[in-house]
Amino acid sequence: MKLSELKPGQSGIIIKVRGRGAFRRRIIEMGFVKGKKAEMLTKAPLKDPTVYKIMDYEVSLRKSEAELIEIVTGEEIQPSNEPEKRLLVLNEEKLLSLANEKSKVINVALVGNPNSGKTSLFNIASGTHERVGNYSGVTVDAKEGKFKYKGYTFNLIDLPGTYSLSAYSPEELYVRKQIFEGTPDIIINVVSASNLERNLYLTTQLIDMDVISVIALNMYDEMEKSGAKLNYQSLAEMIGYPIVPTVAKSGKGIPELFDQVIEVYERRSPVARHVHINYGEEIETGIQHVKKLLKDETQLGIETSRRYLSILLLEGDKLGEQMVSGLQGAKQILKERDIHAQYIRDDFREDVETAFTDARYGFIDGALQQTFKAGRTDSQKITHRIDKFVTNKILGFPLFFLFMFVMFEGTFFLGEYPMQWIEQLVAAFGSFIDGLMSEGPLKSLLIDGIIGGVGSVIVFLPNIVILYLFISFMEDTGYMARAAFIMDKFMQKMGLHGKSFIPLVMGFGCNVPAIMGARIIESRNTRLITILVNSLMSCSARLPVYLLLVGAFFPRYGGLALFGLYITGIILAIIMSRIFKKFLVKGEDLPFVMELPPYRMPTLKAMNRHGWDKTSQYLRKMGGVILAASIIVWFLEYFPQDAGKENSYIGKIGHFIEPVVKPLGFDWKIGTSLVSGMAAKEIIVSTLGVIYTGDGDNDMLLKEQLHAEQTPDGNPVFTPLVAISFLLFVLIYFPCIATIVAIKNELGSWKWALFVVVYTTALAWLVSFTVYQVGTMLGL
Ligand code: GDP
Ligand code: MG
Repeated sequence: MKLSELKPGQSGIIIKVRGRGAFRRRIIEMGFVKGKKAEMLTKAPLKDPTVYKIMDYEVSLRKSEAELIEIVTGEEIQPSNEPEKRLLVLNEEKLLSLANEKSKVINVALVGNPNSGKTSLFNIASGTHERVGNYSGVTVDAKEGKFKYKGYTFNLIDLPGTYSLSAYSPEELYVRKQIFEGTPDIIINVVSASNLERNLYLTTQLIDMDVISVIALNMYDEMEKSGAKLNYQSLAEMIGYPIVPTVAKSGKGIPELFDQVIEVYERRSPVARHVHINYGEEIETGIQHVKKLLKDETQLGIETSRRYLSILLLEGDKLGEQMVSGLQGAKQILKERDIHAQYIRDDFREDVETAFTDARYGFIDGALQQTFKAGRTDSQKITHRIDKFVTNKILGFPLFFLFMFVMFEGTFFLGEYPMQWIEQLVAAFGSFIDGLMSEGPLKSLLIDGIIGGVGSVIVFLPNIVILYLFISFMEDTGYMARAAFIMDKFMQKMGLHGKSFIPLVMGFGCNVPAIMGARIIESRNTRLITILVNSLMSCSARLPVYLLLVGAFFPRYGGLALFGLYITGIILAIIMSRIFKKFLVKGEDLPFVMELPPYRMPTLKAMNRHGWDKTSQYLRKMGGVILAASIIVWFLEYFPQDAGKENSYIGKIGHFIEPVVKPLGFDWKIGTSLVSGMAAKEIIVSTLGVIYTGDGDNDMLLKEQLHAEQTPDGNPVFTPLVAISFLLFVLIYFPCIATIVAIKNELGSWKWALFVVVYTTALAWLVSFTVYQVGTMLGL
């Protein structure tokens, strides 16, 4: 019986704990393990939760939780109508041995495609003779068999064959119902090795369901005959289901299969774990949003995976909808679902189900690409043909670097024209205000503070939009996944994983979503390092600084200089990763699948939305933090009034930190901009804008003013060497506040955020110091 059926004062011995993931772990940590005695103490006034006593602790469980724990009680030995006698006979030893016996019953369900060999396997294991063969009757029923092996009793159930577990055909509905309501302890997923791709589709759905499974890699004889090779151990580790090759026709591999079932049942298998199939950014965002609403629904049993239910809802699954229809927040949940389903439809120009199907095949393709070598019959799918080219050992890298180079050149040169228009607009606006107002603090605030500060940053908007479009394009076409794939070996050398590559490239856009994007990495260690080095990926907020200085001092090598800066960031990230891997984290990483979604032309609608999202985000930043910083910097520079720049507040701050930055070639003005740039890196430019537009000719462009700026003894402040030292410092030092908060949120502690602040700033200082000092010695 179930723990939830106990009456007050009654006790029983635990024989099984069902359920999944976090719930299971928690319940087991509480002491609800096989062979332990649990006693019911009291029920809360509203009947739920109930307090149980286990190993001398008192623990309260909800009914839905207690239902997942199976027990055996004294009454099952001795009928309860003779209570006195029962008390006498009820000795623990007898109960324990009964519990032990009962816990050695394993309920196994066979699930797989038609003709994968389920019935053959069922027959050979249970010794029965069900009809085997190539028929596809609509006999929606299940055959049950029983047998003993190694002291365990197996209740085997042979389910109808299905290609998928969507709720379309009666077979599919039936199998799904069996999996959920028949509560098998373990599912044997029979997979035909002669058609892996097709067969593994069902497996991806089992993974989503978060059920416990062992894969029988059946028809292994045919695979060997065809010359195909599968590294099934490595595949098993990636997907978290043990795989045993079998030949159900002859019985080969069947004992090993059930050995694995026992291992998994007893929680001894090192391979068994729950993995998440990564559906790509757009779909995952939808899943997260729906899941968030489901999380709050206490009515929903603990045994339902919120992620799975979210997937069902997005796919438009009728049963999924039924499951939520009675919930309190049903309306809101379905509304959220509709919004995100529409996003997915817009992005993929396909219905949502197809988008999911494609992503599942992407998961399978990725897993097989790493583990499978086809025999004589190779697939001719277009995706595969392109992949041959793009993920080619020799061609892959140059292709990738070419793409990267085009991206940076494009960002620099395509942005040039709209940038000039905005520059002219800003200048015209400044002159307009200049003519309109009489001299005074307010005018200075408007022209030197706001227009000088915000205006100097806003001109880079086109470049940033272009960079984002390139990154979105890489993601949306599916190329990013391939890039991750070819980079895998290299990333592993860095101590990372191919999957780390995506958050790193995303970091070129903005470190904040990139750090959140690191969630696709299942391994905690790899994820940690990916996050720690992410801010070395030069985000677009640093771009205005680069463009300003590169434009001023290296205009002829613009694209190349940009490329060089980004590469420097990457190289530093490599070095730091290796160091972190060596000194910071312990333990080996689990392998996992890198999804290879099919190639797709991104829709204009999606590109437009992504582009607009970023643009509006950028504009909000202009109106918010950058505007505020510009005003503050202006204030610090303007007051105390008439003191002159050197003696203004900002001058004092600048002079205070000058000793620290002087060895890097910076004067106090540059030092000040670096301090204010901690809030957001664009503020470096707006600060320079405010400081420099304060003196002299207002029509002079900021980059011209940088050239004109002189030290007291008449030398230019900015030499090309100072510019390089400055660029490197900006690249490396202090990630912005938003990034620091993101690191704290993702890693769950301020400790890591602080660590990043300290190491990046120290590293920046060291690099700039070395470059400047060596450069000076060489007479540059
Ligand atoms: P089910 O539809 O999944 O129940 O599959 P069946 O058990 O009915 O098997 C389908 C066909 O595959 C039958 O002709 C079996 O003899 C054959 N078969 C099953 N297992 C194997 C195997 O491991 N190797 C080979 N070569 N054939 C198999
Ligand atoms: Mg069958």
